Amino acid sequence: MILKDAFDYSYSYLLNHNIDEAEFKALCLVCSLAELKNSQYGLCRNNDYPFEALDEKLNLLTEGDPLQYVIGKWDFYESEFCVGRGVLIPRPETEELVQLAVNFASMCSAPVVYDLCSGSGCIGVSIAKAVPSSKVFCVEKSEIAFDYLQKNITLCGNATAVSGDVFNPKPFLDNAPAADIIVSNPPYIKTSDIDNLQPEVQKEPAMALDGGEDGLLFYREIIKNFSDSLTKGGRILFEIGNEQGNDVFNLLDTAGFADVSVIKDIYGNDRIVTAVKK
Ligand code: GLN
Repeated sequence: MILKDAFDYSYSYLLNHNIDEAEFKALCLVCSLAELKNSQYGLCRNNDYPFEALDEKLNLLTEGDPLQYVIGKWDFYESEFCVGRGVLIPRPETEELVQLAVNFASMCSAPVVYDLCSGSGCIGVSIAKAVPSSKVFCVEKSEIAFDYLQKNITLCGNATAVSGDVFNPKPFLDNAPAADIIVSNPPYIKTSDIDNLQPEVQKEPAMALDGGEDGLLFYREIIKNFSDSLTKGGRILFEIGNEQGNDVFNLLDTAGFADVSVIKDIYGNDRIVTAVKK
């Protein structure tokens, strides 16, 4: 089938099933099956490709599976990451966290970075690639997510995948050098809010979303368990939910960090909190 026909077919199939962003999803799907970038569509639209899995993938989309899981990969920062059921999908807001961490890492010589609750590894691997002198440890507990992390870390010689739990950090910390930067996008949704998330987000692993009763469980644990492993003058950077700025500010302030600041994302929402170890 030629690319254009596959696109037209997919677009009307998704429209007929009332799928939102049908045009964008159809374009991403057919281009990924043809192993093309979306921007190559115009030039290649009359070329033939095998679209064997097209119906199966369209069906998954109509069942509400996120586009990123159906395609199996997604662009984040400057790379493409393998994703699928069981791992959080990289979000554009998180690219801002990566950029800040890269800025700090670039000011250090050979910085050690911990990416805690790493998931697909999109944060840690992106930092490792952008700052070749860094040494990045990506710590993840979920076995399914860890498989994706291992795939995504391949060929990234300065990043290491660590199967570990931020609630029980000793096995990791006993074998790791102290960190200059700790970065984390932990689960931060309140348990009671999980059932109200959009249906597509509910297809993502609860383990990557559920931040406990008040959504702050992982921030408390990370601050408690990892502060002593951060070098003096080292930075901690958290992604946060848009209503958690004050709470996470207070947690870091109370724990004795300096220069605590809440930073907004491109949408104007509080999204990142950073602080410096005294
Ligand atoms: N940003 C995600 C969402 O809004 C949540 C990710 C997380 O809990 N770390 O669904």
